[in-house]
Amino acid sequence: MAEYRALEQFVDDIYTCNRTRCGFCSVECPVFRVKRMETYASRGRMLVARGLLEGILEPSAEMQEVMDACLMCGYCQARCALENLDIFSAVRRELREAGFASPKHEQTAERILETGTLFDRPMPFRRVGTTPLYLGCAYQSKPHQVQTIVSVLEKVGLDPLVSDEVCCSYIISAVGFEEEFQRAQARFRQVYGPHLEKEILTVCPTCTATLRDEYGLQVKHALVAVAERLPGMTIKPINRRVTYHDPCHLGRMLGVIEEPRQILKALGMELVEMEHHGVFSTCCGGGGGVFDVDRALAVEVAKNRVRDAVAVGVDIIVTACPTCQPTLLRGAGRLVNELGVFVDVLDLWELLDQALD
Ligand code: SF4
Ligand code: SF4
Repeated sequence: MAEYRALEQFVDDIYTCNRTRCGFCSVECPVFRVKRMETYASRGRMLVARGLLEGILEPSAEMQEVMDACLMCGYCQARCALENLDIFSAVRRELREAGFASPKHEQTAERILETGTLFDRPMPFRRVGTTPLYLGCAYQSKPHQVQTIVSVLEKVGLDPLVSDEVCCSYIISAVGFEEEFQRAQARFRQVYGPHLEKEILTVCPTCTATLRDEYGLQVKHALVAVAERLPGMTIKPINRRVTYHDPCHLGRMLGVIEEPRQILKALGMELVEMEHHGVFSTCCGGGGGVFDVDRALAVEVAKNRVRDAVAVGVDIIVTACPTCQPTLLRGAGRLVNELGVFVDVLDLWELLDQALD
């Protein structure tokens, strides 16, 4: 029987789930909501893990497809008491060792290791300042958004220092490419070395969680710093009725739930909550590399999240993530005919910049 060293450390969790089978993880798993098949929810993935451990199942392309369809959004883990996400990454590690990994993910890992970035950077942004600000690849690929963020930080009295940076490489770790992740992490430490001992301001939720949890760095999401500085500032109110989509990493994993809401209220907006929000928010569809391997699934997940907004009578979603905003916009675009309305998706940083003018 094959040895599955990465999985064996989670044997207690896997059997606990198999014995419990409570299913709290499943109902709002965004992938289960689309596929309606148990295999695609955490409970089903845990059975796959057990099947591998007991030699009942062999690694296969079908198993890889099931694991690649996980958004790594952490909804199941928030509903459960187990290490769900680490177990899914371990299954992916085992599958890759057995020769089953998506060529797309292989290309992504190669690209990050070769170029230090996940996306094209038109012109890497740099700024002399005093407080290290790590932008991350997604924002570095969107110069206009970077200008907006820096403008907001300046307006609230911060002096961001943007220096050379490389990708945090979250995606390589999430899909189970452990050895590549270690190499990418070593390069990050080399390039970002001068700032590693300081508190680093961050803007991408996924980078923030990765730098904190995988690299052990002291990070502070810049929205938290902004929320602390807003009271007493002159604000031009934006009178809109909106809902807020919590990015999985920002809300569920980093606990930055109240600050974006405080900001929206301070900007004069009426906030209507969707049924699933805060710790139990659901994914936009852009997580876990799913968009790279199954674009149709990612779009269906995004459409469901947009439907959540429409269900509470709102046609503006505000969010604060360079992945969530374009993903939700894609879903909103595909729903125009069905809903007869275009649900707009706005970036909280843009709103802050307008209101602080
Ligand atoms: S993954 Fe957790 S919540 Fe889901 S069935 Fe297993 S024990 Fe229950
Ligand atoms: S991480 Fe998200 S997509 Fe994956 S099984 Fe859990 S709830 Fe479903």
